[in-house]
Amino acid sequence: MSKLEQVSQEIRSCKRCQLHLSRTHAVPGEGSEGAAVMFIGEGPGFHEDKQGRPFVGAAGQFLNELLESIDLQRADVYITNVVKCRPPANRDPLPEEIEACRGYLDRQIESIQPKMVVTLGRFSMARYFPNAKISVIHGRAKKMGGVLYYPMYHPAAALHQPSLRRTVEEDMLRIPELIEQAAQMVESALPAEAQQLKLF
Ligand code: SF4
Repeated sequence: MSKLEQVSQEIRSCKRCQLHLSRTHAVPGEGSEGAAVMFIGEGPGFHEDKQGRPFVGAAGQFLNELLESIDLQRADVYITNVVKCRPPANRDPLPEEIEACRGYLDRQIESIQPKMVVTLGRFSMARYFPNAKISVIHGRAKKMGGVLYYPMYHPAAALHQPSLRRTVEEDMLRIPELIEQAAQMVESALPAEAQQLKLF
């Protein structure tokens, strides 16, 4: 069993936070173990909880379309969330739930070693861009430790607020060009908490 499969198996039986009490299925994530790009959303919703798969509802359908716009399929990337179990009634995940689940996401990233991490929404953005506002930094990448971190709005935000749709589509279209330019980009030298953001 690969390290990534091992993590998925642990997540499916995890009871580290209260979200295990109300879940139908934990949602570890899915995609390629050798993915160059990893997408990190917030948490499973109703359909994801029922199926045990990430991004399978309306937002997932939109994510599929966004991936197709840059000639990628779901199987080419890895898709997961900050918390792996559905918060009741789709409420925001609590800080203690994010903290309890943090080790799984760390291990997934360590196993996959993506070139680029795309954060979808506020909660995954906060991991790499503390105190930043998504309305200000979406669509601008930061390089750290050889990895490009790229904040985008969550696809669900564009479904709730149609004026964001074009923004999300345009931010997605920049991904191939950013991957190509990644080698030339300047590293942010300081730890995430202390650094000035180096945005491109
Ligand atoms: S959200 Fe994460 S930490 Fe909480 S029960 Fe699910 S897998 Fe475990």
